[in-house]
Amino acid sequence: MFDLQKLIRPCLLNLQPYSSARDEFTGTEGIFLDANENPFGDLNRYPDPHQKLLKEKLGEIKKIVPENIFVGNGSDEVIDLIYRLFCISGKDKALTFTPTYGMYEVSAAINDIELLKLPLTDNFQININELKIYIDDENLKLIFICSPNNPTGNNIENVDWILQNFKGIVIVDEAYTDFSSVNSYIKKLVQYPNLIVLQTLSKAWGLAAARVGMAFSNKNIIGFLNKIKPPYNVSELNQSAALKALHDNDTTARNIHIILEERKLLEKELLKISCVKKIYPSDANFLLVEVSDANNIYNSLVEKKLITRNRNTVVKNCIRITVGSKNENEQLLEYLKKIDTLI
Ligand SMILES: *Cc1c(COP(=O)(O)O)cnc(C)c1O
Repeated sequence: MFDLQKLIRPCLLNLQPYSSARDEFTGTEGIFLDANENPFGDLNRYPDPHQKLLKEKLGEIKKIVPENIFVGNGSDEVIDLIYRLFCISGKDKALTFTPTYGMYEVSAAINDIELLKLPLTDNFQININELKIYIDDENLKLIFICSPNNPTGNNIENVDWILQNFKGIVIVDEAYTDFSSVNSYIKKLVQYPNLIVLQTLSKAWGLAAARVGMAFSNKNIIGFLNKIKPPYNVSELNQSAALKALHDNDTTARNIHIILEERKLLEKELLKISCVKKIYPSDANFLLVEVSDANNIYNSLVEKKLITRNRNTVVKNCIRITVGSKNENEQLLEYLKKIDTLI
């Protein structure tokens, strides 16, 4: 049986959250002399701590009620809050599958949580037999699964097995879900009380600067996240930028389509270049590309102000290339072809 109370850090079970002025009085009209704000200016009022309008719009798009949505200052904030909600520093553990997104490890270190890193198989899938060795560890509270995975680009299989067999919390980070042909795990929230799905407006929605990330989970977990978050964690500027983008989801859909077309083209053209050895299948807005000599090629690209991500230390001789605009991709290809003739 799944027992949420047993997983929450004990000191948070009876936490009395900060009650802000905007919690006590929630109307929009009146003379506001309650929050020590400044009467002058355009951004002089504290933002809505519950992001009501934003959650309503997100709920409409994701087909889920606001009680199942948490909004963070980017998903990076949500990752940190999840560690703090479930893990006792110096005692509890989390687990992830590498190579993967770096923040699971950084956030674990900041919170003094041991992160177990199990290597993905040669085709970047989870080795369930190896996981079985760790899955019953009493102190293992969290399993982070990034799908589609960064930097490998593929969807991860066997997530349901983990949800069914692990008694702790499973976080499925779907930062790239809008580029993927595979369904979101949001649909499975009713089935799994230990599931948290992370998504973000930073990638497909084009709002990396605005810092808006979401967690979707059952209302008990969302309730605890709301209790421990900084009261005004998502600024007014961020909330309105997010709302604006969400209201114009035709633009986002069009841009996703363009990016996916460009990804196909980029892949096809890259494969014609002889320093390109292999391109891993991608369900995201980037390609993991194996080249003849990643360090060299990365550095010469940088010299031409073409910035990719050198992933040589995590997947040998691989660089990760984000799909840019047609023009940007063409400039990259043009220069790579030039390098090719030099090697
Ligand atoms: C880019 C990315 C994020 C986004 O984080 P934000 O803080 O929302 O910008 C989250 N998870 C993964 C795996 C990513 O690649």
